[in-house]
Amino acid sequence: MTLEQFSQTPIAPQMQYDYDLAIVGGGIVGLTLACALKNSGLRVALIEAKPYSAAAKKGQAYAVHLLSRQIFQDIGVWEQILPQIATCRRVCLSDAEYHRVVEFQLSDLGTEALVYVAEHKALLLPLQDFLQGCDNVSYLCPAEVIETQYNPDGVKISLSLGTESRTIRVRLLVAADGARSRIRTDAGIKTRGWQYWQSCIVAFVKPEKPHQDTAYERFWPSGPFAILPLPGNRCRIVWTAPHEEAKALVALDDERFLAELQRRYGDQMGQLELEGERFVFSVQLMQSDRYVLPRLALIGDAAHCCHPVGGQGLNMGIRDAAALAQVLQSAHHSGEDIGDLQVLKRYERWRQRENLTILGFTDFLDRIFSNNWLPLVAVRRLGLWLLLKVRPFKIFALKLMTGLGGRPPQLRERF
Ligand SMILES: Cc1cc2nc3c(=O)[nH]c(=O)nc-3n(C[C@H](O)[C@H](O)[C@H](O)COP(=O)(O)OP(=O)(O)OC[C@H]3O[C@@H](n4cnc5c(N)ncnc54)[C@H](O)[C@@H]3O)c2cc1C
Repeated sequence: MTLEQFSQTPIAPQMQYDYDLAIVGGGIVGLTLACALKNSGLRVALIEAKPYSAAAKKGQAYAVHLLSRQIFQDIGVWEQILPQIATCRRVCLSDAEYHRVVEFQLSDLGTEALVYVAEHKALLLPLQDFLQGCDNVSYLCPAEVIETQYNPDGVKISLSLGTESRTIRVRLLVAADGARSRIRTDAGIKTRGWQYWQSCIVAFVKPEKPHQDTAYERFWPSGPFAILPLPGNRCRIVWTAPHEEAKALVALDDERFLAELQRRYGDQMGQLELEGERFVFSVQLMQSDRYVLPRLALIGDAAHCCHPVGGQGLNMGIRDAAALAQVLQSAHHSGEDIGDLQVLKRYERWRQRENLTILGFTDFLDRIFSNNWLPLVAVRRLGLWLLLKVRPFKIFALKLMTGLGGRPPQLRERF
């Protein structure tokens, strides 16, 4: 029987459930969903393959949008996150050597931050700690999903927990297992998208002068270049360039790499000093054809991936998690089956289109700025001029970039 046929199948004798739902993937997105379901009355299993301590070692850093802050506040974990992250009060946008720079200020939104910047562990550890106080969540870690068997009334999941194996039965399986989601592939959900012609170089640097809580995004014909402030006067570089150029850049010795870096960003913060290693990531745009099937929902990178310009990817995943939590809690409180396709479709209708808008926006930004074709240069200079001179246009762009343009999840009223 295919997954598609489930909704038409008469209900089989009730399965004995170990949990109401299982979330596969204890990255930031999976953890956000588990934490958001505290006090929901739902019993949750969170399954993560990497050992507890190893999960925080990922050397990534993210722009965290205002709507993500709101979600963490509603969950009750923001107070633990805030001391470890940078509050960005100014964002400067510029186009290669063009002399006009668009500056976004706090007064543009009337908020105390435009965006926040956090290292992976600054988000992951407070979420993991918060989970300790969630009596309804069992953290199965390290544990890996070996097999899934979908039935009309539930999912049977075979797990490997080191030397042991175990089977659990749930009403709903949520895949938060990242871009290469095995759960998505095994369920036969197709994806659309492409690999970009660019790779992304990331590194931590320490500037000579204070970064003054300012983020710079500069668009070069080879790709967008961002330098984001972090606590302790450190910064994160997110630098996209065509594959061969990116490979050649990371292969340079520190001195020559820093010289190239300085050429891209200028000297607003004086000399830069490299901290730790630099890494290259391939960059892709991907959208799953479906976010849900009977008894299955996809969230985060398992459902979509985008170009790093504008720092959208993780924020989209956090919004997925909050939206799904809201849909599941409402369904549970009104006595509906949380694995039913009609319930899950509410989540898909909400998130799939919004995410597609963001994917289109990041793709548009990358394409329009990453080239030197004169008509496009003229169009984007006009865009920068509009951002400088037409305030409603500037506010609209800022809201789109910070996630304030979409439908916000309402978690607080349910706690
Ligand atoms: C260079 C670069 C820069 C970026 N910058 C930003 C930024 O500034 N802002 C932003 O919002 N986003 C950014 N992103 C995107 C962001 O990194 C991702 O969107 C985000 O990490 C996705 O989180 P996730 O929890 O969905 O997936 P992941 O972080 O991939 O987590 C998946 C988890 O599932 C676990 N797992 C996998 N398979 C199994 C299994 N079978 N059983 C159990 N567990 C399993 C893994 O161990 C992992 O912990 C950037 C991405 C790149 C590449």
